[in-house]
Amino acid sequence: MYYNWEKMTNTEELRVVCNLIRNGEIIIFPTETVYGIGANALDSNAVGKIFAAKGRPSDNPLIVHLADRNKIQEIAQDITEVEQELIDNFMPGPFTLILKRKPIIPDIVTAGLDTVAIRIPENIIARGIITYSGVPIAAPSANVSGKPSGTKIEDIRKELEGKVSAIVDGGETKIGIESTVVKVIDEVPVVLRPGKITPEEIDAVIGKVRIDKNILGTLNKDEVAESPGMKYKHYAPETSCKLVYCKDELDQIFYLKKFIKQYDGDVVVIGVEEHKEKLFLDDQRFISVGKKDNLEDYARNIFSALRKADKIGSSKIIIEGVKMEGLGYAIMNRLIRTCEHDFFEKQ
Ligand code: AMP
Ligand code: MG
Repeated sequence: MYYNWEKMTNTEELRVVCNLIRNGEIIIFPTETVYGIGANALDSNAVGKIFAAKGRPSDNPLIVHLADRNKIQEIAQDITEVEQELIDNFMPGPFTLILKRKPIIPDIVTAGLDTVAIRIPENIIARGIITYSGVPIAAPSANVSGKPSGTKIEDIRKELEGKVSAIVDGGETKIGIESTVVKVIDEVPVVLRPGKITPEEIDAVIGKVRIDKNILGTLNKDEVAESPGMKYKHYAPETSCKLVYCKDELDQIFYLKKFIKQYDGDVVVIGVEEHKEKLFLDDQRFISVGKKDNLEDYARNIFSALRKADKIGSSKIIIEGVKMEGLGYAIMNRLIRTCEHDFFEKQ
């Protein structure tokens, strides 16, 4: 069933959706980061349906979503002072914390790890569904594994319809990229996946922060990742992609033109609005992610732009990179994976 709650949550439909969750079915629902595909986290069978629908490798654990901070102790234990401070400062919000799990969380959710990833979304629809279902909801991003995450229902409907019992449409997601994932190791918060909450913000409240070395690099297949999701192909359209970032504006235009020519113009460029005319491209060849230096717009638009570019069809999708600071760090983390490390950079 498809439900549109973009303007307002329908309470009768909310009851139906929550019953589906309680009865072991899976649903698509909005959060402030991206759309999620959720199931009762305490029901292994239901969680198994998520892995099947997404084609997600079973060693990639899921984030468990709660409606309230005081529910955390029901599924996690031995919470340290630093962890508690992170909870107090960043939850609810686009922030996921890895905590020591309680046995109540089934192995399938955590891929057998002794930790569990927890997030409390801010989005009102997500909170309503979790609250009235009365159970924690395990939910990865709503997309077939490897594809860009879904930020609009129209982008993901075709690939997931028929695999889920309900689709709840809450309009375009506000942030557009996934949560910041943090694990506290030896009392230091370590960013395993960058997101809207930046390392600077974490440092400002805890006084220390570390960034996992694998965030922008490649991981050897047999290397053990602190966050298993790191080692998988991700956010990638069918068309192969190239990432281009030059610190200098003139260089950026020069190299974009050079790469466009290299593919005889058979490209789609995803970039900032101001560059469309400079590159002499029309709407079929250029997708804007917003104005230059507006990283919020860039983050909100990027996944949908990738899907749109893929649909247009070309030899190559060329993507403009951004400066690696603040939210730009999270954007580049996704794009480097999108482009499978085909990244031209000039500082
Ligand atoms: P997704 O929900 O698809 O956006 O991905 C969730 C991310 O959180 C993946 O990169 C997972 O590897 C990571 N994750 C989930 N649970 C854990 C955990 N217990 N320890 C470390 N990373 C985790
Ligand atoms: Mg995902």
